[in-house]
Parts: sequence; structure tokens; C-alpha cells
Amino acid sequence: MSFYNIYHKYKNCSFEELPNQELTKLLSLEAEKSLEAMAQKAKTLTLQNFGKTISLYTPLYLSNYCENECLYCGFNANNKIPRRKLKIDELKKEAKFIAKTGLQHILILTGESKKLSPLSYIKESVKILNKLFSSISIEIYPLSQTEYKELIAAGVDGLTIYQEVYSQSEYKKLHPAGPKQDYQFRLDAPERAARAGIRTINIGSLLGLAPWRKEAFFMLKHAEYLQNKYPEIEMSISLPRLRPQFNNFQTPYEVSDKNIVQIITAARIFMPRLGITLSTRENSQLRNNLIKLGITKMSAGSTTAVGGHTLEKTYIKNSLQFEISDKRDVSQIKIMLLKEGYQPVLKDWVGALQNE
Ligand code: SF4
Repeated sequence: MSFYNIYHKYKNCSFEELPNQELTKLLSLEAEKSLEAMAQKAKTLTLQNFGKTISLYTPLYLSNYCENECLYCGFNANNKIPRRKLKIDELKKEAKFIAKTGLQHILILTGESKKLSPLSYIKESVKILNKLFSSISIEIYPLSQTEYKELIAAGVDGLTIYQEVYSQSEYKKLHPAGPKQDYQFRLDAPERAARAGIRTINIGSLLGLAPWRKEAFFMLKHAEYLQNKYPEIEMSISLPRLRPQFNNFQTPYEVSDKNIVQIITAARIFMPRLGITLSTRENSQLRNNLIKLGITKMSAGSTTAVGGHTLEKTYIKNSLQFEISDKRDVSQIKIMLLKEGYQPVLKDWVGALQNE
């Protein structure tokens, strides 16, 4: 049994044909009329379960080599952008820059090329980062259970992996070449990591690639499936919306701010303890407004280029994965949170390997 069995059961249903459960009701068009009441309920549940705290993290791009041709991404293997992998001394410099901001949680990313950013390189990088950060998550190509175990042993405690789009037919069209074409290997990656003993898992659907109600349904059913089967895992979702990038890919299915509000409030009511991450893909005003509805984690001081804080500006400008919208640095985000009455959390976990 894997989540694929659940997906398979409902894959050919329209949203209206999905089982008439709490989740489908919350995500329905009809529920838009009760959005205000849903928002109030989500606000209360968030306060009860998380208090007024927001964890902060930042991405650190190790490499932008990629073997895939995802139509919506600036790192698409066909794009003629400068490609690079951080050398160890460059990584140390970038990591020190981030550590100076006070952040202790970091998300390391690569494009998906196992050949050019092999596991050995990621392990070596994690060992360096362990000295500066208390929590290290990865957003890299999907791995086997044994490989996840190796990274956990090296000091990784969190996994972020987006299915991108749950609709298997859309997935096929959007991923025309490369190892990422294997839909099920990606779908089952979080479960392999859970079996390997990872502490946190963050999944997501890239909003805009397919009709959002059904995508949100599958994402939340996936989160529920993982949480029920692996209750020890700290489970969370992300709500990335498509952003402009190198290929000028046009969003096929628009997702409005109001739709985002509905997904967040539905998620909070459906799974009150679920972590909800909001990245700098969204603008500062929207991010400020969404905090109260159920967000538990935000990125700050982000860049989507390899070595985006410390490498040459001319290189960085031409090699972004996508454009970020909220460009505030860590101290500005902290000030905003304090002003709103929230406590910014820079550290809520200490990896056993830190400072070894
Ligand atoms: S989304 Fe990921 S796998 Fe696809 S092209 Fe971009 S970096 Fe590569």
C-alpha cells in the first residue's frame, strides 16, 4: 500500500465526484461563501495548536545542474543559463553569510542531477553546514530509503519534496524528459524518507499547474496518509504558486489570493496540527495577512540562485530558478512578526550532530 493506491482510486473523478467528506466541502466552490467563518476557525485552531509563533528558515542553493525538462522551471536542462555547483570554500562563505543573520534552520537545494550533484557531495556539504545550523532540510532529487538513511546519518533532519502536480496526466505533459518522468517514484519519496527515520516532511503542489481544488485535495490526503501512518513525523505542506522564470511559462490555471486563503483555512481545519509553510514566492503584503490564518513557517532573506548571497552579482542575475516576490531580509521579517505580536522562532530543534 502506498499513497498511489489512494490517488489511483480518485484520479479520474472530477472534483465534484470526489467523496463528499469534510475536506471536499472545505475546498468546494460553495465553501467560498463561508470563507470568513472558515478563517475565524482556522485562526483559533492555529492559536490553540501553535500559539503566536512563526519558524523562520532560508533556502541555500548548492547547485543548479538538472537533468529534467520541467516546463515551468528556470533550471530546465534545456535553458542556457550559467550552471554551477558550490565549491567547498564557496559553500562555507555562503553558509557563514546566512548564519550571521541568526537563522538556524536551513533548506539546501540542488537541481536534480544525481550525476553532477551526487549524494557524496550533498553529504560533504551537510557535514560543513552542521557546524553552523541546528536543522538541515533537503530539497533534492528523490532518493531510495537507504540513501535517505545515509543523509539522515550525515545530519539531515528534514525533507521537502513537491509532487509539483498530482494530476498524473498533467504531470506527464509538464515533465517531458529526465528521471523526474517517474511519477510514482516521486510520489512515494516522502514515505521512503519516513521509513528511513526522517524527522520532518514537507510536501506540496505547485499551484497553477492544474485545477487547484483537486490538487489541494490530493496534497492534503497525502499529508493525512503520511501523518496517520507515521505519527512521529512533523508533517507540513507548502503552497508554492507559479512565479515568472527564465522560460516565461504561462500559468495554465490561475490561483487567486482568495483561493490561497481557502486552501490555508481548509488545511488548518482538516489537520489542526499540520505545519503550513509560506515562501517568498508571495508578496510581502499577502504574507503579512496570511500569517494569522494558519501559517507556521516562513522563509526569509531568500535567493533562488546558487551562492545567491555571496557569488558575483552578474552570475546571480542570470541564473535564478524563479523570481521571488518578498525580498525582505531576516531582520525585516523579524520586525514585522514582532509588530504583529508573533514570536519569530529561529531554532526549535538541535540536530545530534551539531558541533561534532
Ligand atoms: S523543477 Fe527541479 S527538476 Fe524540474 S527543472 Fe527545475 S530544478 Fe530541475
